[in-house]
Amino acid sequence: MPKFYLTTAIDYSNGEPHLGHALEKIGADCIARYRRLRGDQVHFLMGMDENAQKVAQAAEQAGVPTAEWVRSLADRFDATWRRLLCTHDDWIRTTEPRHHRGTIALIERIRGRSPEDVYTGVYEGLYCLGCEEFKQEAQIVNGRCEEHPNLELVHTREQNYFFRLSRYRDETLRRIRSGDLVVEPAIRRNEVLRVLEAGLQDISISRQRLSWGIPFPGDPDQTVYVWFDALINYLSATGFPEPGYDRLWPADLHVIGKGITRFHCIIWPAMLLSAGLPLPRKVWAHGYVQWSGAKVSKSAGTAVSLDEAVERHGPDALRYFLLREVGFEADGNFTWERFDERYTADLADGLGNLASRSLAMIDRYRGGSVPDAGTATRLEKMGQACVRRYVEAMDRLDLRAGADAAWDLVSRANLYIQQTTPWTLAKEGKDRDLDEVLGSLGRCLYRLTVLVSPFVPGKAQALWRALGQVGESAAAQWDSLDRPPVAGTATRKPEVLFPKPTPA
Ligand SMILES: [Zn+2]
Repeated sequence: MPKFYLTTAIDYSNGEPHLGHALEKIGADCIARYRRLRGDQVHFLMGMDENAQKVAQAAEQAGVPTAEWVRSLADRFDATWRRLLCTHDDWIRTTEPRHHRGTIALIERIRGRSPEDVYTGVYEGLYCLGCEEFKQEAQIVNGRCEEHPNLELVHTREQNYFFRLSRYRDETLRRIRSGDLVVEPAIRRNEVLRVLEAGLQDISISRQRLSWGIPFPGDPDQTVYVWFDALINYLSATGFPEPGYDRLWPADLHVIGKGITRFHCIIWPAMLLSAGLPLPRKVWAHGYVQWSGAKVSKSAGTAVSLDEAVERHGPDALRYFLLREVGFEADGNFTWERFDERYTADLADGLGNLASRSLAMIDRYRGGSVPDAGTATRLEKMGQACVRRYVEAMDRLDLRAGADAAWDLVSRANLYIQQTTPWTLAKEGKDRDLDEVLGSLGRCLYRLTVLVSPFVPGKAQALWRALGQVGESAAAQWDSLDRPPVAGTATRKPEVLFPKPTPA
C-alpha cells in the first residue's frame, strides 16, 4: 500500500474555529477519505499553532494562563473537526515536547550542514501581528497588510538570527519548474514563481526576549520565530529526528490557504534544502470563504458562527456545500440562501429522494431484495462513465468537479425513474423490465454511496447500511465499483437522509 502523508495548516489558538478554517479541514478530509478509498495508507495530520505572540496576547486579554488557554482551544478545535466528521490520524500542538525537539533538531542540523546559513543581524521593518510576519512593500496596501486591513502594522527594530534564504532561490525555482515540488492550483504556482524570479531576501528567524515560544538553541535571549517553528510541525509529527521518521517524510500533500504560499513554497523548501532533507511532493493552496464578498477570518473582522452553520442542516450538508458551492480552488461565497437552495435541490430532493424512492420500490415490489438484473441499462453505462469522470477530477484534487460527477449521476438516476416509471411496470406485470430497472437502481445507489462518501460520510454510511452492506464504511469497496455486488442483498428502508426543514 503506498503511503499518503497529508497535512493541513495549523491554526493560531487566538480565537474560535470559523468557516474559513472549516473549508480547509473539510477539503483535506475529503482528499484523505478519497485516498483511503483508492487503497493508500493515509496519514492525516492536523493541529494547532500555539507559539505566536498573538496567542499569548489573547490569553492575557482573557486573563487565563497561556498554557491553559492553548490547551482548551486545542480541545475545542479538535472537537469541532471531529464533529465535522474529519478523520485526522494525528493532532499536533506546537507546545508539545515532540515539536520542541523537532524544531531544535532541525535548526541544529541546518547549522551543522550549512554553518553560513544562520547568522546574526539587525532587522528593521513593518510587522503584521495578524500574519506574524515582517511585510515587504509589495504586501502593503494603504499602509496596512493586505491580509489584515483592520490591523496597524508595527514598526520593529531588533537584533535577530537570520536564515540565508537567498541562497536557495535558484534551487527552489528549479524544483518547482521541474515539478519535483508541485504547487497547485496553477494560479498559485505562477505567483510563487514570480516571487522567486524577483529574487529573495534573507529572513529573520528569531525574535528578541519573548516570554512565550521555543527558546533559540544556544541563545536564551532569542525565541524561534513562530513561522519558522510552525512549518517544522509537519516534520516533528513524523518523529523527527528519531529514526523511522522517513516512513512518513516527505509529506505527499500540504493543504494550505492561499495567503501562506510564500512560507510553504519558498521558505519551507529552503529550510529543508539547507538541512539536506527531501521536499514535500505537493502543496495545494485553497481560496477563501467569502461572506458577502469579504474573507471570513477572525482578524479580518468577519465571522459567521460555525456552530450555526453546522446546526442548520447537519455536518454532512455543510461539508457538501463548502466543497461544491464555495469550492476548494478559488474564493467562493457563503450565503444562507444558497446553502438552503443547495440543501433542498441536491441533498433532500436529489440524493435523499433517489435513495428513499429506489429503496421503497425495491421493498414494495421485490420484498427488499435487489434483483440480479440491469447490467446493460443506460443508467449502468452512465454509472460507469461517472466513476471515470469522478476519478479524473479527484486525482487532480478538483473536489468540486468530483462532486459534480457524482451528483450528475444522482440527477440522471432520478430522471431514469421518471422515464421508466417502475410503478407502471409493476401494475402491468412487466416483471423482467421491472427487475432490470430496480437492479440497475440498486447498483447505481451502491456506486453513489462509495463516490459521495468523501463528501457526506455520515449519510453515506447510513445509505450503506440501508443497501444491506456490512462493515464500518464504504471504504475498501473501490474495486467493486465495476460490478457492484448488490444482487440478492436485503435492503432496508433508510432513515430520511436529508429531512426538509419544517417551515417556521
Ligand atoms: Zn497580515
